[in-house]
Amino acid sequence: MSVLENLSSVRERIRAAALRSGRRDEGIRLVAVSKNMGVDLIKEALGCGVSCFGENKAQEFLKKYPQLPPELEWHFIGHLQTNKVRKVLSAVSLIHSLDRWSLAEEIHRVASETNKKAQALVQVNVAGEESKYGIAPAEAEDFVAEVTRLQGIRLRGLMTIAPECEDPEEVRYVFRQARELSRRLEERIQGLKMEYLSMGMSGDFEIAVEEGANMLRLGTAVFGRRY
Ligand SMILES: *Cc1c(COP(=O)(O)O)cnc(C)c1O
Repeated sequence: MSVLENLSSVRERIRAAALRSGRRDEGIRLVAVSKNMGVDLIKEALGCGVSCFGENKAQEFLKKYPQLPPELEWHFIGHLQTNKVRKVLSAVSLIHSLDRWSLAEEIHRVASETNKKAQALVQVNVAGEESKYGIAPAEAEDFVAEVTRLQGIRLRGLMTIAPECEDPEEVRYVFRQARELSRRLEERIQGLKMEYLSMGMSGDFEIAVEEGANMLRLGTAVFGRRY
């Protein structure tokens, strides 16, 4: 399957899932996860109307992005080391993976040097998986409240990764809890606007859409299998 065919099928599935939950698909953003994919394939996706790409490894990203047109929008979606913050920040428009206080401080520090606000989502580890990064839901309110006090960060919402499952129905609760957490945080923290809920990957994005996702991170479904 070509990227074009993959995309048309993905868009159709997003639309159907949105309809099932009484929503429209216009407000749902697709982030094409281009990790492990070469520049040519990214250009192919660009030619098919994809404008936003996600990468999860700083080194790979920093090597790739200068080879691509500047109008492209990049999101960083992986665990980010503090010593890579400066370079990554200068090239991305959104960090999905704000997962610890030391990273928040470093992003704030670097962005403040130029009076900028870096845009970020807080990554929450809803399922409590040991192998995954992210803030525990029980700690999310304190963490988010602290982050909103940092001048250098503009918090835009939450991101979560569901556990891998044969049957994506099993992880519906993860998406539902993330959405409820997002709503609760908005209620409890003054001035906080949670605009984005980044959840849903190739194996589970329809369930994520049904549960309120408005930013999907899709790799395999767009580009095919990674080798
Ligand atoms: C790789 C990756 C994705 C995309 O995974 P697919 O299953 O290929 O869609 C999404 N989010 C994160 C954080 C990833 O690392």
